[in-house]
Amino acid sequence: MTETRTDRAALERGLHHALAFLDGLDQRPVLARAGLEELRRALGKPLPQAGIPGVQVIDELVADAQPGINASQGGRFFGWVIGGGVPSAIAADWMTTVWDQNAALYAATPAAAVVEEVAGAWLKDLFGLPAEASFAFVTGCQMAHVTCLAAARHGVLRDKGWDVEHRGLFGAPPIRVLANADRHGSVDVALRILGFGLDSIVPLPLDDRNRVSAEGLKAALAAGDGPTVVVLQAGELNLAGFDPFADLIPIAKASGAWVHVDGAFGLWAQVSPDHRHLVTGVDLADSWTTDGHKYLNVPYDSGLAFVRDAAAHRAAMTLSTSYLPAGGGVARDPIDWTPELSRRARGFAVYAALRELGRDGLADLVRRTSRHARTLAEGIGALPGAELVGVSELNQALVRFHDPSTSATVQDHNARTDRIIATVNASGEALFGGVDWRGRRCMRISVCNWRTTEDDLTRTIEAVRGALLQNS
Ligand SMILES: *Cc1c(COP(=O)(O)O)cnc(C)c1O
Repeated sequence: MTETRTDRAALERGLHHALAFLDGLDQRPVLARAGLEELRRALGKPLPQAGIPGVQVIDELVADAQPGINASQGGRFFGWVIGGGVPSAIAADWMTTVWDQNAALYAATPAAAVVEEVAGAWLKDLFGLPAEASFAFVTGCQMAHVTCLAAARHGVLRDKGWDVEHRGLFGAPPIRVLANADRHGSVDVALRILGFGLDSIVPLPLDDRNRVSAEGLKAALAAGDGPTVVVLQAGELNLAGFDPFADLIPIAKASGAWVHVDGAFGLWAQVSPDHRHLVTGVDLADSWTTDGHKYLNVPYDSGLAFVRDAAAHRAAMTLSTSYLPAGGGVARDPIDWTPELSRRARGFAVYAALRELGRDGLADLVRRTSRHARTLAEGIGALPGAELVGVSELNQALVRFHDPSTSATVQDHNARTDRIIATVNASGEALFGGVDWRGRRCMRISVCNWRTTEDDLTRTIEAVRGALLQNS
């Protein structure tokens, strides 16, 4: 048989390397072994004049890059909120690459357009969002914020008789943005990109449970007028705080505000009957964002935007020109809802993960990872010199380590916490990040990988015990 157009050899090498990597996850160190200089030396080859066979390219790429790969795909990576990939989602992502569809238009890729339609409807149902809401598959939660807040900008200015898509923001009625004081930085970036300016953000004060308080929201709403956007949060990135949506959203809506919710990972609480109470009333909002690449365990990049007012969403995003054949109002054209024109067919991997997990698997994933986060936090918190700072009902927790000397200051405890994190990470057994939380340095625990097992938790707690001994 002749192998003409298809370079099977390179693809087969790729498959071989992929399976070897996945099979080796339990053995390989979680933290990348290669440093900056080593990676620059290995990868920084001269660009060849004549091309190189694909097999050799892929072999060398794996050899040179893999020492610089963190095993976030494995079960002992607890740094940041980073999920892994369920098998069918990884495979669907491979197929997405092989099919190489431009998922801008139904006409360019009928199946990619329809798979988004189907997965979008499933997601609205899973999250309990209004059936009439529109949606978009984007690169991540930050771009989902851009999408939703562009729709918000359109909606609140339309209500004042101002067409922002034509007239822009210069000279428009100023928009106030009232936002959870502990919001994720991606909200600010989205607001900057959209021309709001950081100075237009009024931070909403938090109560003793780290949630926006009704009194704080009322006072902020009363302190001004004009078009207003309120940004709330489902799942704060350290202790997964959830704003009390059922109390807050009716207050905001009564004053005509658009309510946007950042639910990057926290919106997934809705899929678990044990955690659903955390997001009660979230469906009352006007727009919602979440990620596929975190809790759903879909490969990067995968963000999701939902907007109640589909007309505002479409007005903010649509592109129509004569050379692009639109779906004619029958098929859904992704281009009407996303900030990109040419784009990856992201729906396939989301569709696959949702089917592989099913409703029960999703509930179990949220339940299991939340239990794992608590087990880790309590196990580490019980080690000598450790302190359990906080553990959420969802998948996040904070611990910290005390300097044993009697004259130790907060700075000493902070430095020891960073030292313990660095020692654990260097051991290769597990990986954690650090954060300043209410003036104290903490180690963040985030569990959202479907692969994490009880055995991973035991290994991790032992690794932290080892790091404490090593630093005693
Ligand atoms: C991760 C995260 C984001 C940003 O999401 P990306 O997918 O990285 O763009 C926004 N908000 C919260 C709460 C997050 O955890």
